[in-house]
Amino acid sequence: MPVHVARPRTREELVETIAAAAGAGRVVKVPGSGHSFTEAALTDGLHIDIGALRGVLDADPASGRVRVQAGIALRDLNQELHRRGLAMANLGDIDRQTIAGAISTATHGTGSRLQNISAQVEAIELVTADGQVHELTEQSDPDGFRAARVGIGALGAISAVTLRTVPAFLLHRVDAPLGLDEVLGDFEALADGNDHFEFYVFPYTEKALTIVRNRFDGPPRPRSALNVFVNEGIMQNVVGEWIFRLTRARPALIPRVTGLASGLLSEGDYIDHSFKIFSSERKIRFTEMEYAIPREHGPAAVRRVLEWISSNRYPVAFPIECRVVAPDDALLSPVYERETFYIAVHQFRGMEWRPYFAAVEEIMGSYGGRPHWGKRHLLTHETLAQRYPRFGDFLAVRDRFDPRRAFANAYTRRVLGE
Ligand SMILES: Cc1cc2nc3c(=O)[nH]c(=O)nc-3n(C[C@H](O)[C@H](O)[C@H](O)COP(=O)(O)OP(=O)(O)OC[C@H]3O[C@@H](n4cnc5c(N)ncnc54)[C@H](O)[C@@H]3O)c2cc1C
Repeated sequence: MPVHVARPRTREELVETIAAAAGAGRVVKVPGSGHSFTEAALTDGLHIDIGALRGVLDADPASGRVRVQAGIALRDLNQELHRRGLAMANLGDIDRQTIAGAISTATHGTGSRLQNISAQVEAIELVTADGQVHELTEQSDPDGFRAARVGIGALGAISAVTLRTVPAFLLHRVDAPLGLDEVLGDFEALADGNDHFEFYVFPYTEKALTIVRNRFDGPPRPRSALNVFVNEGIMQNVVGEWIFRLTRARPALIPRVTGLASGLLSEGDYIDHSFKIFSSERKIRFTEMEYAIPREHGPAAVRRVLEWISSNRYPVAFPIECRVVAPDDALLSPVYERETFYIAVHQFRGMEWRPYFAAVEEIMGSYGGRPHWGKRHLLTHETLAQRYPRFGDFLAVRDRFDPRRAFANAYTRRVLGE
């Protein structure tokens, strides 16, 4: 529970607010949209809401470089880019996060040749507790820049970001239910043969829903408003909600319900602007854990999670989401210098997630898994230091930018140490 909430309207007000609070010995935290499942954005000190800092500062369609204020939400960013004939090269599956929140936890989409959102950043403007404004780039401060790209809010307040965008493009999305053996057996070819490949696996079944998205020259062939209303609005969000409520009330029904639900998976095929194809509306409340493991272990890890669920008859009806991401060099990026398979497990709100997530965490640990910073996990800095080759370098950057730990909270103390 923050002691106070500040709402600066300009970068100067942000600088003054931070310097005054830090000078008075207070801790501060700048949250984004509050979409993390971890306590990353929480504080019992000063909560600084930068919702007013959400403009486009500069855009050069020729180079694709676009500078935005840090509080811009991805959905507004997408619209602003689209108006200029530009787009983000890759995005995750919702668009409610702020750009600063998304990069700070290494938010990602899927694509074996594509990196996460923080790797699409060219420069970061960071306000530190002493009121200094740092312009961080690969040239000006290589370690500072690579730390701030995925900084978990621990270094300072990001006030602006320069993005490397690409010319606007269309994506052709095809959804197809397939047998699990087929998907896991063909995984490498499916991942490499498509721009964006992901699949969902249904516990207690041998079914998977594959989603491929590939660049397409056009023309667009979007879903009709009726189709979106029926499939996303009614089937996924309303019917899905009632199915999950039923399984929460009667967990013993879960194997039968997931069997029936996986039989209803439908094919889809449409073409639209990339940002419309990437994100969807998520109305069902759940909690989530996601791990990044070396890509080659992905199919075996999925099998082990399914076996654990079946042998423990664990009540979980939510599908397991599997994606791939190309390596990058941000010091705390879960895909740091390795081809990655992301595996995400979910649990419906109000249902016990701890034993399930703890078991998945143990399986992922056997592959040297690195948790998503914005999703539930139970690791502490002792273990994380072994999973990140440049963990010590990140801590050195933190000592430089935030020696008094003005930006610390319970989460940073757990995952980074005091
Ligand atoms: C329904 C749903 C779907 C999701 N889908 C995906 C997905 O497809 N892929 C994926 O990778 N993740 C996904 N996530 C996770 C989400 O993208 C991350 O948790 C992201 O960090 C949330 O962004 P936010 O703006 O809400 O940031 P918050 O959760 O508010 O904050 C996250 C961190 O960023 C820091 N931060 C935010 N703004 C600043 C700033 N200006 N300066 C310094 N630090 C700052 C905060 O202090 C905190 O440490 C999903 C989450 C939900 C709820």
